[in-house]
Amino acid sequence: MAITTTPKRTLIVGNWKLHLNTSQASLLLHRLHERIKIYRDIEVVLAPSMLVLQPLSVQIDRRKFRLAAQNAFHKDTGAYTGEVSFAMLQDLVHYAIIGHSERRIYFNESLEMIREKVASAVRNGITPILCVGETKEENRAGETKQVLHDQITSALANLTATDIKKIVIAYEPVWAISTFGGELAKPDEVKKRMDFIRHQIADLYGKRAADRVRVLYGGSIDHDIASGYLSIEGCDGVLVGGASTNYQKFSGIVDAAYRLRYRDGVE
Ligand code: PEP
Repeated sequence: MAITTTPKRTLIVGNWKLHLNTSQASLLLHRLHERIKIYRDIEVVLAPSMLVLQPLSVQIDRRKFRLAAQNAFHKDTGAYTGEVSFAMLQDLVHYAIIGHSERRIYFNESLEMIREKVASAVRNGITPILCVGETKEENRAGETKQVLHDQITSALANLTATDIKKIVIAYEPVWAISTFGGELAKPDEVKKRMDFIRHQIADLYGKRAADRVRVLYGGSIDHDIASGYLSIEGCDGVLVGGASTNYQKFSGIVDAAYRLRYRDGVE
C-alpha cells in the first residue's frame, strides 16, 4: 500500500538538552534571531531546559521560532513534588518532546508513561513530538519493526484519528544519537523506517491520518549532512540535539532546509 504524502512545512527542532543556562540561552536566541529569517515553509522550534522556557518566551520572535518542552508530567496538578505539567506549559510551548531515548533509558520511562504523557500533551493543546527508535542490539537482532510497532501503537493508544493528524513522530535510532554512539544512519535505511512508521499509522488510523502526521529524523545531524536526510521522500524535518546549541551548525541546518525547498520549487 503506497501512502502519498503532501508536502508540509519543514520542521527543524533543536533539542538543547541539559545545556545553556538562562543567559547563554538568551544569547544564542539573540544570534539566531539575527541570522534566521521568517520562512513561510520552514518552522524552527527550540527546546530549551524547563527553567529557560519562560524567559525565552518573552524574548522570542514568534514569527521565526516556536518553543518546545523537553519533557513534562502527565498529571495536570497535584502532590507531585518537583514536576511541571503539560497543563502549566500550555501558554508557553507549542510542542513537547516525548519518549526521547535519553528519557526512556536514563529515567526508565515506560511505554505506559509515554502513552500518558502523549495523551496529556494533546489534552492540553500541546503537539507531541513522539520519539521512537530501536537500540543497536534490537537492530542487530532484526527487531526494529517490532520495536517501532510497539512504541507507536502504545504511545498513541488513547488518541482519536483527529488527534493523530496533529502528532509529530521522530524516528531516532538510539545508536544514531550522539549520546549513545552517534553512528550515522544511511538515508535509504531511514526512508524504509519512516515508510514503516507511516504504514503503522495508516493501519491504525487510516491513510489520511498517515499523510497528515509529520515524520522527522534525528541522529547526530549537523549542517554538513542535514540535506541528505531532509531530502528523503516523506521526511518532514529533523530533530537536532548536539548541533542545535551551536549557532553556526543550527543555522546551517535551517539554510539546508531552505535550499532544498527552493530547489524543489515548493516555495
Ligand atoms: C536528539 O537529542 O534527539 C538527538 C538527535 O541528538 P543528537 O543530534 O545529538 O544525536
